[in-house]
Amino acid sequence: MSSIRTFERGGIRVRGDGEQEEPASIVNAFLPNSAVVLLKQHAGAPARCVVRRGEYVREGMIVGRGLGPGSADVHAPVPGVVRDIRVVLLPEGGESEAVVIALEGSFDRLGRRAERYVWNSMGRADILRTVRDRGVVDTEAPGVPLYDLLADRESTDALILNAVESEPYLRTESSLLRERSEQVSDGLAILAKLTEPARLVVAVDELCIEESLRPWAGDARIEIVRLEARYPQDMRKQLLESVLGARKRASSSALVIRPSTAVALHEAIVLAKPVMERYVTVGGGAIKNPAVLKVRIGTPIGDLIEECGGFLGPPARIVLGGPFRGFPVHDLDAPVTKTSSAVLALSEDEVGGARRNPCIRCGRCASVCPEKLEPERLFRLLSNRREAEAEAWGLKDCTLCGACGYICPSRVQLVAAFAVRLRQGISKAMEATR
Ligand code: SF4
Ligand code: SF4
Repeated sequence: MSSIRTFERGGIRVRGDGEQEEPASIVNAFLPNSAVVLLKQHAGAPARCVVRRGEYVREGMIVGRGLGPGSADVHAPVPGVVRDIRVVLLPEGGESEAVVIALEGSFDRLGRRAERYVWNSMGRADILRTVRDRGVVDTEAPGVPLYDLLADRESTDALILNAVESEPYLRTESSLLRERSEQVSDGLAILAKLTEPARLVVAVDELCIEESLRPWAGDARIEIVRLEARYPQDMRKQLLESVLGARKRASSSALVIRPSTAVALHEAIVLAKPVMERYVTVGGGAIKNPAVLKVRIGTPIGDLIEECGGFLGPPARIVLGGPFRGFPVHDLDAPVTKTSSAVLALSEDEVGGARRNPCIRCGRCASVCPEKLEPERLFRLLSNRREAEAEAWGLKDCTLCGACGYICPSRVQLVAAFAVRLRQGISKAMEATR
């Protein structure tokens, strides 16, 4: 077996004691009575609503039309009647228009045998057009449309399937790797055809069981790379450093794709199916029966929690996404989107209590930062409104991985402060381009 690789600096070991982890079985979730379909489920501008209140929409019909780069078409995840078009607040900040569809009528796809299309004979332009028309986005937030990632990339030094899950509780990608290996493999083959990679890599962490790798093991084109189970091993910079080496990471044109994105691509091309579903981990110490669910987009997260047996006790925090990089949610009606990887209900023990104390200058935050930053210094500068100095000390290199906030014994709100400043910078940059 090849050796276990990792990135050079910082990080935290939060999963595993060397034991391999069995992926969860994937369960089909119940259909929602009402789907709240956000028109902003991608990195760029919200899609433009193309349906009216009272209109009947079929499963897979376009309800929002993407508006240029960064934006993607949005499709009806269930058949039904448009009951409302309203503005909802997003957990990550900001707001989005949403189309509320009350489930009604018959399904065009559900329960029927799907016709399979032979994609090998499709040309590049045809595949790209189909990817765009089916609304496929990178399932990692912020959801860059796959078309945008592929359109100008006719070759690459590496195509990396990133099945590493370094945040606690998350099992979506490892479960897909084992239980949907054929779809993942098809998705990867389509991407390889489009990008002609010099290297084709399947990256997993050291806790991945051998059985999950069996479908890939006999393929001479594919390198299987095992990585240390150290957070944030799954983030692009650390992944590239571990797989390609520190010197190559900055200049690499690698395309890094999650198994869930590969499955969405397979469905779009092989099954001619727009993005209507998402695979979601439901877990955390306050959930009775954690599971990985296949869910219709627009399903309220409260439905998923109920389907997993509800709460063991009052949760201290509910998070959309992982415990490090996810966003707290305060509304169980918040819907699943194309980039929702997990819904976690965390207990008081898991969030470490609400008590915050002043910084004790212990230096732990700097020791875990994979970007070689000094989080305590950056926080102090931002607190004193010395933003320019914080930027001079490297704030813009912060990836918001959350490792510093996790390790801090005083629970100083480091990452929240960095996120506010970095997002202000992004909005200003976007305004300047309008
Ligand atoms: S959130 Fe930013 S400052 Fe904190 S550890 Fe991650 S990269 Fe470093
Ligand atoms: S880990 Fe927390 S207490 Fe320690 S130096 Fe960093 S901010 Fe201060």
